[in-house]
Amino acid sequence: MTDLSARRLLLVHAHPDDESINNGATMAKYAAEGAHVTLVTCTLGEHGEVIPPALRHLTGTELGEHRLGELTAAMRELGVEDFRLLGGKGRYEDSGMMGIADNDDPACLWQADVDTAARDLVEVILEVRPQVLVTYDPDGGYGHPDHIQAHRIAMRAAELAADAGWEIPKIYWNRVPRTVAEEAFARLRADLPGLPFGKAATVADVPGVVDDERITTVIDGTAYAAAKAAAMRAHATQIDVAELYFALSNELAQPLFTTEYYELVRGERAAREESDLFAGVAGAVTVKEAS
Ligand SMILES: [Zn+2]
Repeated sequence: MTDLSARRLLLVHAHPDDESINNGATMAKYAAEGAHVTLVTCTLGEHGEVIPPALRHLTGTELGEHRLGELTAAMRELGVEDFRLLGGKGRYEDSGMMGIADNDDPACLWQADVDTAARDLVEVILEVRPQVLVTYDPDGGYGHPDHIQAHRIAMRAAELAADAGWEIPKIYWNRVPRTVAEEAFARLRADLPGLPFGKAATVADVPGVVDDERITTVIDGTAYAAAKAAAMRAHATQIDVAELYFALSNELAQPLFTTEYYELVRGERAAREESDLFAGVAGAVTVKEAS
């Protein structure tokens, strides 16, 4: 049961690991403060690549099952109890990068009818009644079909839920300010010789990078840096973490951001620079002290 007197945050993501990379510190912070945090993940990443050689035999449903275990462990690290799979386990499978033949498979998320998938999410929205929704921008942050589709489903579900009686007061897209990304990559290039990664990614590899002036909201997750890193480590088939950096299966090092950034796209901006996703939301001010 959802406590409807609490602050309620809903996040919609494409694959296990995206939530920890994009919002791990935010999720840990709000969970620790007593907010109800709900994660909806659209697929189990059944067709993705596997980093540890010992687990590379896992494919399809077996890999999805393993990744559900990793997601469960990651949510334990973040203190998030309410995590769900869109439409139930196995309803939507993941797609590959744009243009590959696998994306024609009718089981994959890219082929899903947006309205049908959105209705699966509307059920969650009407139950949880979130004051805040977080998802990707229309490009999915970096053009991955599943991320684009997750964006479409989340935005459509918000519309359908409003028609059905719950209008989400604030909707945000995941962002990284360009100057922050550039500075982090400069540090990364200096630190690279001491890291277990051969090469560095570039700013262009980071999803959601935009000009600084588009950032409306900054969540300082410094106190939750360890929880975020632990959640990312829990996704061992997809992420290698070392100090303040990580790499995906392409083995290119990227900075691990513990301050997380957002662009408000629906609802009223409460301050020039918000430091709380719930800022200005009526009835969302009660905060349980983090212990
Ligand atoms: Zn993803």
